[in-house]
Amino acid sequence: VFNFAAGPATLPENVLLRAQSELYNWRGSGMSVMEMSHRGKEFLSIIQKAESDLRALLQIPPEYSVLFLQGGATSQFAAVPLNLCSSPDSAVDYVVTGSWSDKAAKEAQKYSKPTVIWSGKSEKYTKIPSFHDLELNENSGYLHICANETIHGVEYKDYPVPKSGVLVADMSSNFCSKPVDVSRFGVIYAGAQKNVGPSGVTIVIIRKDLIGNAQGFTPVMFDYKIHDENNSLYNTPPCYGIYMCGLVFEDLLEQGGLGEVERKNQKKAEILYSAIDGSKGFYKCPVEKSVRSLMNVPFTLEKSELEGEFIKEAAKEKMVQLKGHRSVGGMRASIYNAMPLAGVEKLVAFMKDFQARHA
Ligand code: PLP
Repeated sequence: VFNFAAGPATLPENVLLRAQSELYNWRGSGMSVMEMSHRGKEFLSIIQKAESDLRALLQIPPEYSVLFLQGGATSQFAAVPLNLCSSPDSAVDYVVTGSWSDKAAKEAQKYSKPTVIWSGKSEKYTKIPSFHDLELNENSGYLHICANETIHGVEYKDYPVPKSGVLVADMSSNFCSKPVDVSRFGVIYAGAQKNVGPSGVTIVIIRKDLIGNAQGFTPVMFDYKIHDENNSLYNTPPCYGIYMCGLVFEDLLEQGGLGEVERKNQKKAEILYSAIDGSKGFYKCPVEKSVRSLMNVPFTLEKSELEGEFIKEAAKEKMVQLKGHRSVGGMRASIYNAMPLAGVEKLVAFMKDFQARHA
């Protein structure tokens, strides 16, 4: 089956097979990773290797901490203002390019005073603003963006520079899909369940000088300082998920690193968008071409009454989870790192055949 789900999403087959081979007895320990103490030497070696491989992949500078947390990216919608603002009256800027950044801005209202400095809502979230469209506030503690909107399929190709404070990015759905200059960000956060592992692991990469200023009422589980001081082992972490992320990081390094991964992702996306654009309007992608996501490709059928049929027939051909998000309808093909080129080629062949039969 080729699984086009937006997340939890397909994982590399070789990674799953490796996990299967180690399931009962991790490297002669006689234990499954699920059964190990998170403070034992075996698990410590797993989490340390996962961190060092992620550091190598993203070339994370030493002045940044890497945290493996729980709670999903949604928890970070609160953790960011709780940790980066001195009080609920602190001003912060949000760019709203889709449902996820909208949710982030709304959650931030509880712990800060966010200003939405740009919103793509009136254009149905089909655009990313250019830098000169942004009216940045002088006194903002940070500028928050969502690097890739999973539902609407818009992706930043370059990043804005905040006027004051730091840039914060939700990278949940394009994390480790391409090289990123981490030094441009104060905080990067991502749920693992799209490109790098199972759900239950949330990765935070944060510049160290931003740690240690959480608002007084911040719960311990949301305080970056607690997790940083304890190397993500303050409480029981999502051990098995972290192990799986570690296997994915190893795999990405073996593939040649994120430059190579990006090249593959560009090729897959190009094939799919060309099929949509070359269909003479039978298929349509609403997103402005220059900001189309390499990860999530939303599209509709001109004859929208055929969409149900399209999804059903595709599933019969073993291409599953192509239904668009309930809030936008249509179709969405998520083509994360682990989606092989063959999956996209098969989808495109199916699309052409479906068009020939229904045009
Ligand atoms: N941000 C983005 C861009 C997402 O795609 C998602 C989930 O799909 C979230 C945040 C929320 O993540 P979680 O379900 O891990 O809380």
